[in-house]
Amino acid sequence: MNKNQAEYRIQELSKILEQYNYEYYVQDNPSVEDYVYDELMQELKKLEAEFPDLLSPQSPTQRVGGMVSNQFEKVSHVVQMQSLQDVFDFEQVDAFVAKCHEVFPEAEFSVEPKIDGLSVSLEYHDNKFVLGSTRGDGFTGEDVTANLKTIYTIPLQLKLKETLPLLEVRGEVYMPREQFLKLAAQQEENGEQPFKNPRNAAAGSLRQKYSEITAKRKLDIFVFNLQRCEGREFASHSETLEFLKEAGFHMIPDWKLCHTAEEIREVIKAIGESRQNLPYDIDGVVIKINRLEQRTLFGSTSKTPKWAIAYKFPPEEKETTLREIEVNVGRTGALTPVAVFDTITLAGTSVSRAVLHNQDFITEKNICVGDRIIVRKAGDIIPEVLRSVSHAEHAEPYRLPECCPVCGAKAVRDEGESVLRCPNIACPAQLHKQLVHFASRDAMNIDGLGTALINLLLEQKLVQTPADLYALKAEQLLELEGFQKKSAENLINAIEKSKTASLDRVIYALGIRNIGQKAAKLLCDKFLTLEALEQAEKTEIAAIEGFGETMAENVYAALHDASVKNLLEKLKAAGLAMSYEKQEVLSDTFFSGKTFVLTGTLTKMKRAEAKQRIEAAGGKVSGSVSKKTDYVIAGEEAGSKLTKAQDLQIEILSEDEFLKKL
Ligand code: NAD
Repeated sequence: MNKNQAEYRIQELSKILEQYNYEYYVQDNPSVEDYVYDELMQELKKLEAEFPDLLSPQSPTQRVGGMVSNQFEKVSHVVQMQSLQDVFDFEQVDAFVAKCHEVFPEAEFSVEPKIDGLSVSLEYHDNKFVLGSTRGDGFTGEDVTANLKTIYTIPLQLKLKETLPLLEVRGEVYMPREQFLKLAAQQEENGEQPFKNPRNAAAGSLRQKYSEITAKRKLDIFVFNLQRCEGREFASHSETLEFLKEAGFHMIPDWKLCHTAEEIREVIKAIGESRQNLPYDIDGVVIKINRLEQRTLFGSTSKTPKWAIAYKFPPEEKETTLREIEVNVGRTGALTPVAVFDTITLAGTSVSRAVLHNQDFITEKNICVGDRIIVRKAGDIIPEVLRSVSHAEHAEPYRLPECCPVCGAKAVRDEGESVLRCPNIACPAQLHKQLVHFASRDAMNIDGLGTALINLLLEQKLVQTPADLYALKAEQLLELEGFQKKSAENLINAIEKSKTASLDRVIYALGIRNIGQKAAKLLCDKFLTLEALEQAEKTEIAAIEGFGETMAENVYAALHDASVKNLLEKLKAAGLAMSYEKQEVLSDTFFSGKTFVLTGTLTKMKRAEAKQRIEAAGGKVSGSVSKKTDYVIAGEEAGSKLTKAQDLQIEILSEDEFLKKL
């Protein structure tokens, strides 16, 4: 690679890594696995080493990755909270040990599991916990004292006979794996986006506004370093670890003192093998010079100490036999092939299934039933099929079925999409999702009818289609767990009230693909009644401004589908008004042409009403904050959207300010 090419690639890599850093450290929501990030970082380091004059002080290789959000008070770290230099094989470990032994032949090393969480500093004055902060960029972190106080294993008062004027320690906050799995299941159940892995769950739970939420997340901490201490002197890291244990801290277990590279390799192997049985995630092993004065002599770079390295575990891979490919129909109608293989243990859990995504994925990897396949699982909980190693005799290329395995409808693949879908919105596999959508705030707005209750109604077979909701009786609800007279009546009233929903809401509630609220309104603006819409030609629908061929096709197909027709008949019979009044949109108002995001709880009007009023005043409402957002309207208990708006310096309106503008 010549210098120009290197410069281009360095810029490209820096940009990608900055983006990944933002997703990982600010949003607590990475879009790639850690090993993908690590590979790109290694490539950048290599290029910078080859072309040293292209190295910029702003390069991601030179900076600790974390960032500080405006949501918290800032804390300046007296002792910089550095990162660690990563190594990925034993040769690099040997080289590090040899380098240390060259300077200090008798140097010994503390070898410790590397906990996969987020780094925090805990500061004590006169033995009392006074300040807790995140690492941030290493120099400035975020004050998360209140949230850290909810972690039981952080002593609020040190268990020491003497009183130390000052003590600062560093630890790793983590979420135990079992707690993470519970949380992820709960988030999924509530229709929220679940955290990707325990590390991000821990960071997201600690770096948010409300301590009550952190407390519920049951985080834990392992302390691994003494940063500062007044009133006691120590000669070695191992001494400090013993002392901190006595002081009442939850210390990293299973650390060992080693003298040779050989011993270190053995400990790394042992920690690697024990990894699967640990109740928390570790992503490597840290090797540190033990004696403190030797550390001082080695010093550090701007980002990492020179007296320590982190050996990172490679993602685990194992070979197994693919027994069958199951096809699941998801709540969106997507047909997802799932590989079912002989059980293997990977990254601490038993694995026997992995998603095969779609036909293109299977074809590209040439996967056939009966193959020997390689499955990989990194720290993340989702295993993946990497490749097929060999085919069984008479193996045939696998093809996804042409029809939905649940309802038998012919599956379709939209242009430009890789997913095969069941187009039947009345398909039983999609019923749960259909009901959740039907009842949602922007659709029929049935207060109190959430995911858990819908599950219950389906389990008890009280509801088979959305129309059945209108036949529910309070007495039937009373027989369900958790219902009392008042709550049963409330739900029946909410269902009754939804009968007055306007036609555009009913159309939206049907869940026709690509037909959101706006499209539903446009349809009603043009045709005004359901009857007129049902009689419309495909070309008339396609002629609506903002509609394309696919949208028109989807509406037309849905309204001529027997099961949808049947559903609409039943809804009419149940007494739904389905009327529509075209609304004139105001122009030249404060809201005209601007994009708003609503977050938190509004106390003076429902969110749906706020949205409708913004739209009637010529504004647009979007679900997520981006650079294109003009204003964020923040109600009570506003969360991550508010933080993001602050980070992007978007103007925030309180509920009262918003009402004044209206
Ligand atoms: P790091 O994870 O490589 O190691 C440094 C951290 O290890 C320290 O901050 C410390 O808190 C922690 N640690 C845990 N146990 C320890 C122990 N026993 N002794 C000392 N320290 C211990 O570095 P980093 O800067 O925190 O994060 C970089 C890593 O994060 C990357 O290598 C990558 O794996 C991941 N990352 C991933 C993405 C993504 O998009 N997937 C983005 C950014 C970073």
